[in-house]
Amino acid sequence: MKEITLQELCCHLNDLLHADEFNDYCPNGLQVEGRPSIRSIATAVSASIETIKEAVSRNVDVLIVHHGMFWKGDSYPISGVKKEKLNLLLQNDISLIGYHLPLDGHQLYGNNWKAAIDMKWYNLKPCAYVNGQPIGVYGEFDPLSREKFKGQLQGYYDHGSTVAEGGKDIVSSAYLVSGGAYKMIHEAADMQADCFITGNFDEPAWHDAHEKEINFYAMGHSATERVGPMALGNYIKSHFEMSCDFIDIYNPF
Ligand SMILES: [Zn+2]
Repeated sequence: MKEITLQELCCHLNDLLHADEFNDYCPNGLQVEGRPSIRSIATAVSASIETIKEAVSRNVDVLIVHHGMFWKGDSYPISGVKKEKLNLLLQNDISLIGYHLPLDGHQLYGNNWKAAIDMKWYNLKPCAYVNGQPIGVYGEFDPLSREKFKGQLQGYYDHGSTVAEGGKDIVSSAYLVSGGAYKMIHEAADMQADCFITGNFDEPAWHDAHEKEINFYAMGHSATERVGPMALGNYIKSHFEMSCDFIDIYNPF
């Protein structure tokens, strides 16, 4: 079985995902250090207690997530569930690695470009800048009814959609930013995209879609952010010739 060091893995992934180019809301890269040599890895969307327990039961050396354990503005004390998560990781010598914005924005393995490429969009352009770095993708596709387009999205993400159809009936362009980005509908409208796709929604998005005449699709925060962790897992499998499961935790939000 192939083996690499934790340091090799971290350096490789930090470079691959351009981790230090992002000014993020959380640390990117290694968050909790486990054993120094790595033989099996898993990826997941979030470092929830359920995910960590699953990583323990699968006996992985490294867990790589999109939503890690530490966020700017969190309180410092390690107590409650945070203590329980850290205990599980440390007692089992499992490393936790998190990539947040780098795993949204990457043009091969990120949540957005990977989805656009899979859905065969073309003329792709970076968009949705956060602190100077693009995390989303704008793309075009052959014209189709928005009903069919919605069906394609539901099929791709394997998830229902919450929709505000404020724009055209026939659509051929979209602006995609995974996760909790519903406020970016304004930037999508400024770019004259026919559709805006994100993970979550809130009350203003309904009015914004109609006032800005754009079709809005909320496909689920978690559903839209499975894409990157799965793509990164497949990359790791082939690059390091190492097992890398996707830990699939149910989250309809
Ligand atoms: Zn997210």
